[in-house]
Amino acid sequence: MQEVDLFVIGGGSGGVRAARMATGRGARVALAECGALGGTCVNLGCIPKKLYSYAAHYGESFAEARGYGWHGPTPPFDWATLKRNRAIEILRLNGVYEKLLVNAGVQLLRGRARLVDAHTVQVGAERIRARHVLIATGGAPHRPDFAGQELAVTSNEMFDLEPFPARLLVIGGGYIACEFASIFNGLGSRVTQLYRGAQVLRGFDDDVRAFVAGEMVKKGVDLRLNAQVASLQRCDGGLVATLADGSPLEVDAVLVATGRWPNTAGLGLEAAGVRLTEHGAIAVDEHFRTSVPHILAVGDVIDRVQLTPVALAEAMVVVDRLFGSGTRKMDYENIPTAVFTHPNVGTVGLTEAQARSRVGRVRIYRTDFKPLKHTLSGSSERTLMKLLVDDATDRVLGVHMVGAEAGEIVQGFAVALKAGATKAVFDATIGIHPTAAEEFVTMREPVA
Ligand code: NDP
Repeated sequence: MQEVDLFVIGGGSGGVRAARMATGRGARVALAECGALGGTCVNLGCIPKKLYSYAAHYGESFAEARGYGWHGPTPPFDWATLKRNRAIEILRLNGVYEKLLVNAGVQLLRGRARLVDAHTVQVGAERIRARHVLIATGGAPHRPDFAGQELAVTSNEMFDLEPFPARLLVIGGGYIACEFASIFNGLGSRVTQLYRGAQVLRGFDDDVRAFVAGEMVKKGVDLRLNAQVASLQRCDGGLVATLADGSPLEVDAVLVATGRWPNTAGLGLEAAGVRLTEHGAIAVDEHFRTSVPHILAVGDVIDRVQLTPVALAEAMVVVDRLFGSGTRKMDYENIPTAVFTHPNVGTVGLTEAQARSRVGRVRIYRTDFKPLKHTLSGSSERTLMKLLVDDATDRVLGVHMVGAEAGEIVQGFAVALKAGATKAVFDATIGIHPTAAEEFVTMREPVA
């Protein structure tokens, strides 16, 4: 039987990174993937989502350009062109991933992998003995339980939806729900978004949540809070959702975006003795070892932080420890993140509520303003910026933004937070004028 030092199950962000890094350290590596290379991020998540978000931004750009002297009607949007061009680009990326693996010397197996025992992996008819196994199988959309839920689609199907939904119902209030509500609203759908709680984006700073919800509503999303779907049925014109309050809502498509659950089925975890958490994720320790120490797991399948860059970082920690001299642990502090709503949310560090519970006195700096671009564009979009500072140490604890390119802007400030920057350092930093980002270094008066 062939033997490898590392067998990676899953060719998504975490798996591919681990495989490539490990061959770079001299390890013999095999990787199995039964779907398209690149995983959720490349095929059904971050990348196609961002492309569609760009597409949606053009919609408002045509209207806004008139204030700058570009006259003429808004051109019609062609869904087929967007879908086709996206599919071509994703296919190119699949090829790039394959080349990266093959050129790195990784043995690529196209098929579903299953642990036969704690050291043997089977793919098709082939069995390979592995010194270490890394499970990086990601997650999949979770469907809520209501009558007719099978008529709804998940984010997996949204990119190729046919026909384009003139009326779209989005269920959920997390990243995926808010992003797709914004995108399809921007592309021209009439979007209703239902969230079961009091405000969308639970876990984000409360000011950010309220502000971005307000901006999404201003752009046309019919956001209904404390609302649930009781059942879904087909009707003549499409689908009719009956809400928990009994009211009907007729739409052309329904997206359920109610979380993603780890992919653990069919992996032979029981045969190998790998334990799951009570939420169905693979249980790992601080070195990403499962209950069987030479079987490790990273990324969405361990359900810690479902973000591509986190899976990449976890993979590197694993490879450093297995094939290098690394004893480094994964640092989950100050992970920056963006939600590609329209406008974007960018955030790093603590929310106001977290800061208040962790340190004594918190200084809060906050500004919201009309960006310069919109003085002529006619858009009523506003930008929010917020800094949270530990009053005792002057350290900046949180940087939050709702506005154009918030992700691009907050990435840089994440470096400052990681370096432990104080508010005095922010104050001593010269702004770049005229930008929105300069507001982060020119806020002088705390609001509380
Ligand atoms: P989230 O966990 O972010 O949000 C799930 C949403 O669905 C919440 O609003 C939740 O409500 C609601 N919900 C859960 N169960 C039900 C139910 N039974 N009925 C009604 N509503 C329900 O998951 P997503 O699916 O949006 O995304 C998964 C993860 O993928 C994200 O957490 C994120 O880590 C990652 N991601 C990152 C992106 C980025 O970086 N830009 C983009 C997309 C995804 P409640 O708040 O009340 O629990």
